[in-house]
Amino acid sequence: MLEDKDRIFTNLYGLHDWRLEAAKKRGAWNGTADLMALGQDWIIQQVKDSGLRGRGGAGFPTGLKWSFMPKEVGERPHYLVVNADESEPGTCKDREMMRHDPHLFIEGCLIASFAMKAHACYIYIRGEYVDERNNLQAAIDEAYAAGLVGKNAAGSGWDFDVYVHHGAGAYICGEETALLESLEGKKGQPRLKPPFPAGAGLYGCPTTVNNVESIAVVPTILRRGADWFRKFGRENNHGTKVYCISGHVNRPCNVEEAMSIPLKTLINEHCGGVTGGWDNLKAVIPGGSSVPCLPQDICDDVLMDFDALKEHKSGLGTAAVIVMDKSTDIVRAISRISYFYKHESCGQCTPCREGTGWMWRVLERMAEGNSSTEEIDKLLEVSTQIEGHTICALGDAAAWPVQGLIRHFRGEIEERINNYRADRGHVSMAGVAAE
Ligand code: SF4
Repeated sequence: MLEDKDRIFTNLYGLHDWRLEAAKKRGAWNGTADLMALGQDWIIQQVKDSGLRGRGGAGFPTGLKWSFMPKEVGERPHYLVVNADESEPGTCKDREMMRHDPHLFIEGCLIASFAMKAHACYIYIRGEYVDERNNLQAAIDEAYAAGLVGKNAAGSGWDFDVYVHHGAGAYICGEETALLESLEGKKGQPRLKPPFPAGAGLYGCPTTVNNVESIAVVPTILRRGADWFRKFGRENNHGTKVYCISGHVNRPCNVEEAMSIPLKTLINEHCGGVTGGWDNLKAVIPGGSSVPCLPQDICDDVLMDFDALKEHKSGLGTAAVIVMDKSTDIVRAISRISYFYKHESCGQCTPCREGTGWMWRVLERMAEGNSSTEEIDKLLEVSTQIEGHTICALGDAAAWPVQGLIRHFRGEIEERINNYRADRGHVSMAGVAAE
């Protein structure tokens, strides 16, 4: 269990004042110019050495991503864009950082921008996050007034401006290139890659897009040292992480814990356990709605990190843990998730535009039992035709929950189909197949 002294977000629950003076007392803006004086290369190396992997879902090493930016600024300026469009169902961590610890985050924006030789940072915040935007903007105004951002930011000699851009509430704008399109004032549709943003991002200029949490942890990593951050979690899965646990637990919560904590410990120690006890657990979606669910036997001892969950064909994603007890109709639950992805598809690619709706319609029938066992195979096949065949990862995000359902709960779908047919006096398709 993570000790209080090792928590980065000491005001995650908003129990203390989020404004500048109180944030400074908690450690924000402490020695910022001294850290920057150690130079861009030192900062990037520290972030690499810390083992920090992106907290937005993909888990790409943050320091490595920063090193993809051109070493020298040419004719085009460099930009840092922070993805604060937190829209993955089940995820509610960045919002707490922005409304309760905004100064830690703004300090991270300055340091990260400096490391990548960017004089401007754009924070793209989700449309529904009105209070969060207000707090963030108020904190930025305080930072300007105190000389912490703006000309000669924090006395570092680096000029730095930070802008908050409020989205309009489209899930797809959380995809980094759709976000850039939206920021440029266009329709939020993902771009084909390459070119990657480090080569041609915002306004065609070198750009790095990072998640809020990835940026907000950087000042503390630099102050306390890469080794300190690295000591949490398993090899290749280092640091502390804010988990969001919701669904059928006694006390849903956000909590900062060490990477690689066992899922069962996370739920039992921080959420008061599963409703009705651990044996009442049916399934867990461990990383936001786009990752495949896991049944109870895997949840018994799986670790919460990128690699452990990948081994079980799921993912850490945003670490949004959605717990479902045995009262859950798992087929209907996944069907509802399918509807979400159908609704949020931007429509550019055929497999996603047509496939998400097709999967949802089939799942709606399957939830009733009005289907056949052959159609389960067809559904699985269609999901693999969507996965990996689209411009952006929304296609994968729509396919994976369906694949998880079939992988772990196929028997439940078949039973429902058989019951449906028996109720109506049909010979079950499963029975025909057996003959
Ligand atoms: Fe749009 Fe879906 Fe294609 Fe992504 S995968 S670009 S959301 S149609």
